[in-house]
Amino acid sequence: MQASPQNTLAVAFHLTHHCNLRCNYCYTGEKLPIAMSRQTADAGIDFVLKEAKQHKIPRLDITFFGGEPLLEKELLLYIADRFIAEKGTITVDFKTSTNATLITSEVLRELDSRGVYISISIDGNPTVQDEQRKLAGGQGSSRLVEKAIPLLLKNNPCTNVTCVVTPATAARITESVDWIYSQGFRFITTTLDYSADWTMDDMKILAKGYEQLGKWYEKKMMKQERFYLSCFDERIRTRTFEPIAKNERCHLGYRQFSIAPDGELYPCIQFVTTEKIPEFMIGHVQDGFNESCRNYITSASEKEKPECSGCKLKSRCSSWCACINYMSTGSIEKASPVVCQHERLLLPIADKVANRLWKKRSNLFIHKHYNPVYPIISHLEINS
Ligand code: SF4
Ligand code: SF4
Repeated sequence: MQASPQNTLAVAFHLTHHCNLRCNYCYTGEKLPIAMSRQTADAGIDFVLKEAKQHKIPRLDITFFGGEPLLEKELLLYIADRFIAEKGTITVDFKTSTNATLITSEVLRELDSRGVYISISIDGNPTVQDEQRKLAGGQGSSRLVEKAIPLLLKNNPCTNVTCVVTPATAARITESVDWIYSQGFRFITTTLDYSADWTMDDMKILAKGYEQLGKWYEKKMMKQERFYLSCFDERIRTRTFEPIAKNERCHLGYRQFSIAPDGELYPCIQFVTTEKIPEFMIGHVQDGFNESCRNYITSASEKEKPECSGCKLKSRCSSWCACINYMSTGSIEKASPVVCQHERLLLPIADKVANRLWKKRSNLFIHKHYNPVYPIISHLEINS
């Protein structure tokens, strides 16, 4: 889940543990047809509204998550409708993260009428997608996703795509991003499979892939093409405005939490799996928070990491992210070695790209990375 500002409470409703895909890297555990009941959903909504009112939080970011949340579309719409009806003066933004295979015009209409922003996951061209993201029956999912793409872009040209990079796809990262871009998407988030066993050779292949992707990024920028690509844009941002401010980070368990299908509360989406992790259960919608568990998680995740002491990259590195650390090391207190290697290889590549664009006085680069109102302008332009 993305870090949320102090005046926002970010809550993910995990509508089901079920999914129609079997992605190679899925961390959510066995795909069981266990959905959130209406009763749990109601208790969750009451709990969230009470939290917001009690702490005078004016804004809610509600994410519908899974498994695949659209398998429980009726429940999703029910929760959105209840928030809309009962939010009072609180602003509520909705989002869902879907694998895009269940998207139809009708589904888009229903989500759009409640203002639900859709973020999708695609790993690249049909070959990559079919290797990485198979349907439960073993067939590739690209055919279904390709059908959904024009509908999604017509509905919202600013639809975000998350592309997961694994050791098996690292060499094809440019190909994957370019394919997603060629479909018309302009907001692309790349992320690593942090739980994979990344060898030194895999990291070298990934570094080569990023060198190539850096040239792709530079070319597009010089052609004045407007887009967001997280792996470069986020690192160039910390080069220009470092460090990552503390208030930009997650507020694990406090300003953000997840509600599992059974109503258990967890500090972030990554901790909700079919195999329960008792040490990360921070409460239940019926009984409220377990404060001692919540305090332990916050203080453990914010503790200085001895392995990072003295590192020059500390202010730009995401070694503070508790769920990535947990996925990679099994502990929220240890910095992930995958994050460490990844930042050490990618930051210098991103900096070189930025230096070249600066020297070439790329208008778009300067506008994008030094003009604080750029994101608003770019959204308006993409929409026009
Ligand atoms: S779509 Fe998401 S929940 Fe479903 S298998 Fe893939 S990663 Fe897991
Ligand atoms: S994880 Fe590695 S790169 Fe990041 S701050 Fe720690 S030592 Fe530095």
